[in-house]
Amino acid sequence: TPPAQIRNFCIIAHIDHGKSTLADRMLQITGVVADRDMRAQYLDRMDIERERGITIKSQAVRMPWQTDAGTFALNMIDTPGHVDFTYEVSRSLAACEGAILLVDAAQGIEAQTLANLYLALENDLQIIPVLNKIDLPAADPEKYAAELANLIGGKPEDVLRVSGKTGMGVESLLDLIVEKIPAPVGDADAPARAMIFDSVYDAYRGVVTYVRMVDGKLEPRERIQMMSSKAAHDLLEIGVSSPEPVPTKGLGVGEVGYLITGVKDVRQSKVGDTITNHRKPASEALAGYTDPKPMVFSGIYPIDGSDYAELREALDKLKLSDASLQYEPETSVALGFGFRCGFLGLLHLEIITERLAREFGLDLITTAPSVTYEVMTDTGETVTVTNPSEYPDGRVAEVSEPVVKVGILLPKDYVGTVMELCQSRRGTLLGMDYLSEDRVELRYNMPLGEIVFDFFDHLKSKTQGYASLDYEPAGSQTADLVKVDILLQGEKVDAFSSIVHREKAYGYGTMMTERLRKLIPRQQFEVPIQAAIGARIIARENIRAIRKDVLAKCYGGDITRKRKLLEKQKEGKKRMKMVGRVEVPQQAFIAALSGD
Ligand code: GDP
Ligand code: MG
Repeated sequence: TPPAQIRNFCIIAHIDHGKSTLADRMLQITGVVADRDMRAQYLDRMDIERERGITIKSQAVRMPWQTDAGTFALNMIDTPGHVDFTYEVSRSLAACEGAILLVDAAQGIEAQTLANLYLALENDLQIIPVLNKIDLPAADPEKYAAELANLIGGKPEDVLRVSGKTGMGVESLLDLIVEKIPAPVGDADAPARAMIFDSVYDAYRGVVTYVRMVDGKLEPRERIQMMSSKAAHDLLEIGVSSPEPVPTKGLGVGEVGYLITGVKDVRQSKVGDTITNHRKPASEALAGYTDPKPMVFSGIYPIDGSDYAELREALDKLKLSDASLQYEPETSVALGFGFRCGFLGLLHLEIITERLAREFGLDLITTAPSVTYEVMTDTGETVTVTNPSEYPDGRVAEVSEPVVKVGILLPKDYVGTVMELCQSRRGTLLGMDYLSEDRVELRYNMPLGEIVFDFFDHLKSKTQGYASLDYEPAGSQTADLVKVDILLQGEKVDAFSSIVHREKAYGYGTMMTERLRKLIPRQQFEVPIQAAIGARIIARENIRAIRKDVLAKCYGGDITRKRKLLEKQKEGKKRMKMVGRVEVPQQAFIAALSGD
């Protein structure tokens, strides 16, 4: 297809505003998916994506579209909307000339609408504002068209109104894409330059690499070269997704497609890298992406210690398709052998643990999420701490913690409550803007450590679900932080150690000691539970001793009941961990770590 007949676009939106549903309708209306093959969220292939109704991996698909000006090839790239996956969004954006900014006509602009819009503007994309879900009785297109026009300029009447569900307005939208989005430009005679915007591991086909051709041409069976590593591979297959893979005779300027080389690991075909011809390589790579850095860390342990090898294998497998997942072995007194894992954010953490449980059948404990602290010791050494138990207690001269810039969108009635919440999380107000009469954007600087722990849940519950949140890294700051340890009969339980602000240490200490007192069964002896900063005890609870024979409860007679009780106890024993002399049911650890 000549570049003039190509349009590359993506759909950007806040989560749940209807990207995937609109993409479904486009697939149907352009005829690339027959009605009888249609299923909801066609492009969301992963089970978890389907069940949670979210998009994690972006996908590209080519659709033919006929207008008065001829037949066009529309390449649509579906992007995820969640903050954790901003890096997935930015790579998809770089492959496009235009973006549909999709906004739910019953909700209006939300935090990720703005975050994605800014990313699109940074990439110089032509923006087409569209209101979705106009079939909803609660839709208020007049109000939100004004809000959108106010945000990006233009007239409210020019904001297109569609329903991804009923298909209303979708044909006009396809026409508008052809009309408004510029055709790709590139040098057809130059050495090939193709940008990798996604790399997916497929159990049957190996790594499938999605590319956007910028210059030149790639053909089947030629030898290609990765510009960063100079590694050369044979092209086994090249083609377009429509949306099933269709091999082609090659890809030229402006085209979007996939290629397969037989590499087994997404790290060998890295997102952001440039692919060129091996025989006549380009001299300069395209501007790449920065590697996404893990922001949130957590220990993952098998509940049954003998599953450790399986857990390692499972992580290795997930890493094949998710280069952003990081892990290394660690051990814990309380939890045994496991891995310290790094994630892009909390949703990423949740998705990985869920996939470990579901796809690999593993029973796991996940420790409370932590961020990365840079600690300067009294001897001038710098230590990076991602696990509170590695905190160099007593030798700390200065600690710095990561900070993020937070954007919160909310109805104005909740501004007071949310400001209080942000202040309690050590936020500094940067600014406040009215997007319309009753919708406000609050901007804060906030320690990331204050957000990873249930901030989003609190925000949602304090605003009846109306607030939305987005954040981006904004460097680091020094802070008065301390490590709080939890001790059982004088023995430190490493999995419960936490790095917190000094003013919150007491609160954390009393909360954990109280929680554990309720969760740990009485033992043959008294068990003190203490919270400490270094050697100083800041909170204490006691579990009193018991000496009662459990069988005494059975009043003699009923032998089967006695046997059952003994069996139950034996079963329970298997799930006990020893901390010093104290037997702690695994369940107590899990409950204490998962909070309320
Ligand atoms: P995404 O997170 O942006 O991909 O959003 P989805 O496409 O998964 O849609 C989120 C929810 O909104 C789903 O329950 C959809 O069925 C619903 N939805 C999407 N588009 C429309 C629409 O045009 N009208 C109505 N009534 N519901 C829609
Ligand atoms: Mg989706």
